[in-house]
Amino acid sequence: MSGFAPDELAAVVGAAHVLTDPDVTERYRTDWTGRRTGRADAVVRPRTTDEVSALLRCCGRAGVAVVVQGGNTGLVGGSVPAVEADGPVVILSTERMTEVGAVDTVEMCVGVQAGATVADVQRAAAAAGCHFGIDLASRDSATAGGIVATNAGGVHVVRHGSTRAQVLGIEAVLADGRVVRRWSPLRKDNVGYDLPGLLAGSEGTLAVITGVLFALGEPRGATAVAIIGCDTADRVFELVAAVRRGGLTVEAAELMTAAGIDLVVAAGARPALRSGPRFQVLIEASGADPADELATVLAAAGVDDAVVEAGPARDLWALRERHTETIAASSATVPVKLDVGIPHRDVDGFLAELEQLSADVGHPCRPVVFGHVADGNLHVNLLDVPDGEQAALAHRVLELVVARGGSVSAEHGIGRDKREWLPVVRDGADVDVMRAIKRAWDPAGQLNPGVLFP
Ligand SMILES: Cc1cc2nc3c(=O)[nH]c(=O)nc-3n(C[C@H](O)[C@H](O)[C@H](O)COP(=O)(O)OP(=O)(O)OC[C@H]3O[C@@H](n4cnc5c(N)ncnc54)[C@H](O)[C@@H]3O)c2cc1C
Repeated sequence: MSGFAPDELAAVVGAAHVLTDPDVTERYRTDWTGRRTGRADAVVRPRTTDEVSALLRCCGRAGVAVVVQGGNTGLVGGSVPAVEADGPVVILSTERMTEVGAVDTVEMCVGVQAGATVADVQRAAAAAGCHFGIDLASRDSATAGGIVATNAGGVHVVRHGSTRAQVLGIEAVLADGRVVRRWSPLRKDNVGYDLPGLLAGSEGTLAVITGVLFALGEPRGATAVAIIGCDTADRVFELVAAVRRGGLTVEAAELMTAAGIDLVVAAGARPALRSGPRFQVLIEASGADPADELATVLAAAGVDDAVVEAGPARDLWALRERHTETIAASSATVPVKLDVGIPHRDVDGFLAELEQLSADVGHPCRPVVFGHVADGNLHVNLLDVPDGEQAALAHRVLELVVARGGSVSAEHGIGRDKREWLPVVRDGADVDVMRAIKRAWDPAGQLNPGVLFP
């Protein structure tokens, strides 16, 4: 076989699961932000690991590039092919690989197929009296394979770590069709390189993840949620520390700005505070009697602008969770979205520089920042920026981040959007090792070409 041959793919997955009509494939070729629509000869939808293996063998023989796609909620353009992709390319969607295995309540883990959503995993864990440590607003679409491939963070990293920390085992298909399977519930297993850990954050460039064995935790205790008005990020960090010192466990700490709160309230969310402070921080904490304890800790810390509710406090969480979609709907142009990490001591300085840059830039630019502040992770959104100015402005913001020793990608990955930054933020030997790893797993560069590496 040479070149794209839909019949060979159809022989593996069935003709109904090789989609070639451009109208039908458009939703797979366009990313969640709507910023990127790529070119693909087909979308293939396997059901099993064996089918993935057979597909990759076919594509390898024919020189067809494979772009792996889970829920397509990624925000850096990694899940869709490039427009300028030369040569044949297929999108391999895991949307039919949705099985969730039985929860093992002795070993505290659950094995799932790569296309199971985060919400599926959460529900299975909860039904068995366990807790899954990852949660993010895209939970109903983002998949197990996708959160591993991006090493997604979300709102509970401060408590449980990122996705990599939840991965016990992995099943993945190499570009040549061989299957790598490490599938043990052991928490301690130091035999050789940590391949599951390496696949976490690999963004579809090393292998197609077909299954994940996730660690689960004990069910959470009672929780309470506070929204607190603050004038500085330094004050936010003081309060997070005070809540911990008060004996509570911090489950989440999310920063919102007045600009973001105004947008979500205008879109129908219920405001929490009567005043309009510069920042509002949402702190979720667990403990024996968390609402009372949280209120006591905040009062002792001198807080006079706060509301505290017993968990799950969905209305308070809605203020934070509605940010992403409201921002997308509120901008005159597709918003510039940057996911950055900033050292705690630099957050106030960075935010001041960002305000200044937005004011001075000489074209429309409305900054709306929010994020997982306890992890130093800010989502910088710049609204109304004219299309022709977006790349240059994003570059200037990332320069500010790098100058403060921050990360140009805290949790979303590099994808296609930030690949030019790889050699800026990682030194030569580091990038050489990454390229060598890529060659070892995918010698022909067949998987997600153009993602991660410039
Ligand atoms: C409303 C909203 C809120 C979000 N909140 C957060 C957040 O709090 N924290 C966070 O980290 N992210 C967040 N995201 C981003 C996104 O949800 C995550 O990056 C998520 O992990 C992507 O999962 P997915 O299944 O949609 O992957 P996709 O978007 O389909 O793919 C993302 C990358 O993973 C690769 N990939 C997908 N599946 C596989 C597989 N089976 N094998 C190998 N590679 C694969 C793709 O090739 C691509 O490079 C949010 C997105 C939205 C839209």
